[in-house]
Amino acid sequence: MDENKTIEISLVIPIFNEEENIGELYRRLKLVLDTLTPSYEILFINDGSKDSSLTQLIHLAQTDSRIVYLNFSRNFGHQVAVMAGLDYSKGEVVIIMDADLQDPPELISELYSKYQEGYQVVYGQRAKREGETLFKKLSAKCFYRILKKMTALDIPLDTGDFRLISRRIVDLLKEMPEKNKFLRGQIAWLGFRQTGVSYIRQERLHGQSAYPLNKMLHLAMDGITSFSDKPLAWVTFWGISMSSLAFLIIIYALYSHFILEQTMSGWTSLIISVMFLGGIQLISIGIIGQYISRITKDVRQRPLYIVESTNQTTGSKIQ
Ligand code: UDP
Ligand code: MG
Repeated sequence: MDENKTIEISLVIPIFNEEENIGELYRRLKLVLDTLTPSYEILFINDGSKDSSLTQLIHLAQTDSRIVYLNFSRNFGHQVAVMAGLDYSKGEVVIIMDADLQDPPELISELYSKYQEGYQVVYGQRAKREGETLFKKLSAKCFYRILKKMTALDIPLDTGDFRLISRRIVDLLKEMPEKNKFLRGQIAWLGFRQTGVSYIRQERLHGQSAYPLNKMLHLAMDGITSFSDKPLAWVTFWGISMSSLAFLIIIYALYSHFILEQTMSGWTSLIISVMFLGGIQLISIGIIGQYISRITKDVRQRPLYIVESTNQTTGSKIQ
């Protein structure tokens, strides 16, 4: 692939320890893509895998010139890997999907035909999730609903990053400077004509989810802090309510001391109020801290990721 403008479809696939899935993924992708267009590219972003994923990708790239791999210098995380893929992609449309075949490649033709009807974003909407723990399903369901309540955004429910986006959207995403990426929120924020195609989310083919609870919470926090200032508003509200209450208690304490001349014997009430106020303060500081940590990340202006090696020779872009 030498000329920039000729690629119709770019696939962006982040890879973190997916050695057992790459072969099957490539086989199924090829079957689908070959029916759609001869001019496609598949970008694999190796996000610091510890298994033989990279060797496999290099091997694939040698056999098929439409394969591009980007090899990160370490693990930078799923959202960053996807962003790198978008930075390096050249297609008129980009399709983002996972490597573990939870997102069926066969849905791509449906996504693409919606694009041809004029939609800029076509996301896969999970009608059903198979082979995932009850906890994961429940927490994901709750998260999407809480996020919807907390933000003015129209983030579609039960969607992940599996979606097709047009070149226009890709270029706009590249202009968004935040370092804590929450792509599905950013895409919703952009607007344009968007639609969904529902599918059944399959079980992971091989291996284990690399999204343990702490990573999920982190992503959830990114989603909330990037798109909602409500936690800050709550903190302010609690601060004001608590100070008003404290003020009343002070007046009462002074009154009972000087006028009623009853010294309060209240160790219990003291300890309860200290604990309560202390707790609220710590939570508030924590919430503010979450926002500040994200601001400092943006201010530092470090590169989002570092590509150690790649087979892409033209049009590479390091942010
Ligand atoms: N992934 C990645 N970097 C990470 C974690 C995951 O690039 O730090 C990739 C992974 O290889 C897969 C996709 O992101 O292609 C989704 O990950 P996973 O299947 O573990 O998440 P889940 O489906 O459980 O949400
Ligand atoms: Mg998965």
